[in-house]
Amino acid sequence: MSEKLIFEISKAGRSGSFVPECTGSPYIPEDYSRKIPPRLPSVPENEVVRHYVRLSSLNHGLDNGMYPLGSCTMKFNPKVNEKIAGIDKFLNIHPYQDETTIQGALRILHELGEDLKSLSGMDGITLQPAAGAHGELTGLLMCRAYHTNKGNPRQKILVPDSSHGTNPATAAMCGYKVVTLHSNSEGRIDPDILKKNMDDNVAALMITNPNTLGIFEDKMEEIAEIVHGSGGLLYYDGANMNAVMGYARPGDMGFDMVHFNLHKTFSTPHGTGGPGAGPVAVKRDIVPFLPYPVIGLENNRYFFDYSGKETSIGKMRAFYGNFLVLLKAYLFIRANGFAGLKKVSELAVLNANYLKKKISHNFITPYKSDTLHEFVLSAQNIKKEFGVNTLDISKRILDFGIHAPTIYFPLVVKEALMIEPTETETKENLDYFADVLETIVSEAEEEPSGLHDAPFTTPVSRPDEVRANRKLVLKAFSLPKEEDQG
Ligand SMILES: *Cc1c(COP(=O)(O)O)cnc(C)c1O
Repeated sequence: MSEKLIFEISKAGRSGSFVPECTGSPYIPEDYSRKIPPRLPSVPENEVVRHYVRLSSLNHGLDNGMYPLGSCTMKFNPKVNEKIAGIDKFLNIHPYQDETTIQGALRILHELGEDLKSLSGMDGITLQPAAGAHGELTGLLMCRAYHTNKGNPRQKILVPDSSHGTNPATAAMCGYKVVTLHSNSEGRIDPDILKKNMDDNVAALMITNPNTLGIFEDKMEEIAEIVHGSGGLLYYDGANMNAVMGYARPGDMGFDMVHFNLHKTFSTPHGTGGPGAGPVAVKRDIVPFLPYPVIGLENNRYFFDYSGKETSIGKMRAFYGNFLVLLKAYLFIRANGFAGLKKVSELAVLNANYLKKKISHNFITPYKSDTLHEFVLSAQNIKKEFGVNTLDISKRILDFGIHAPTIYFPLVVKEALMIEPTETETKENLDYFADVLETIVSEAEEEPSGLHDAPFTTPVSRPDEVRANRKLVLKAFSLPKEEDQG
């Protein structure tokens, strides 16, 4: 990768701006104004544009091609939502503005909350959490408040072994002891194993449904009975609602709490940590513990409702949440309508099953159960036969203009490839992906050693991932000392 840093391109005296020199500001008192200009790169405008255009083409993104990440759902997000989120009136609202001046924004938040409650079958909601994991934290803090309020805070959280890593991590962060439930041969929770682990010290069971194998937990009634029977709560990891919208609601399945990843299911391009929003919807019994304020509506007036402050777990984020992400989710839901969201789920499941049918003969299918919006294959056969592993395959996929699927997850499947094409890919794209995998498998047969160095056509070939993780270099070069910068 030859692109230099913008500071390396910089040459003193060059400029990209035609703005007259600033001679003092009428707004900033003399004492507070900068004496020495900030150290900014000096680069002409055309070079700035070229630099960033080149940089923008170094990474793979959804605008380049498929991005079939299982669980983390990288679907195409309508550009019009970005455009609307960029409208000045949304962009420049100040969180300290009086609520009489932001009735429109509050209405959006309120209606989004109502829509998410309807979709999930829940009674109350907070829009504050800024990510899925943040939603989990909010949920488990409410879970603890709920049990503490009942007189026994309880110590344990149960998670299936197929769960997303954030589930046990969040539980541990909340101070709970994490107990892992082994999945049965169908890739599902085994009610008998659950029963053995259930006692009055279990605060909650966290379930993703369909789980990260794409398999629907079909014994939910029994599971809910066991958990509720011992006074525990059921937490639904709804990071990915792509399979169930309009078909099944966590509330009807017996869940007490659910978090959504608006940045996965409901539009908003995301990656590498944001931006996101992870609202949490809850059943009536949990409502008193919701973070405050929630968005209220009375006599056609929207307002910040602080009435739950006494029992609330507190605030989970500054102000009211990640407004622009919430706005985009609202747009996505309203543009599709509930019927359209049902169609989204239908197509997501259809696309995943079409692709699975086309490619699974090359790999091992670890579980025979039907799958919904995503599926997991194992490349153990290819590793055994040709010495080519899942990492080699996924790196080679990049050479064909497709992002690799999620790999080595869930942990219950060795050499896992976890694939979620999403509803937004065409049949031609799915066919192309299937052809690419076919090609790579033939390459593995014919010249396996060639695959260990893939990818070959990307700006960066194969980084040393262990070193990159262990030896963080957090600065690219050293800036002059702070005092020189004014
Ligand atoms: C992505 C994901 C999460 C975590 O969401 P973040 O927004 O990345 O914190 C949790 N559970 C599942 C099943 C997920 O796919």
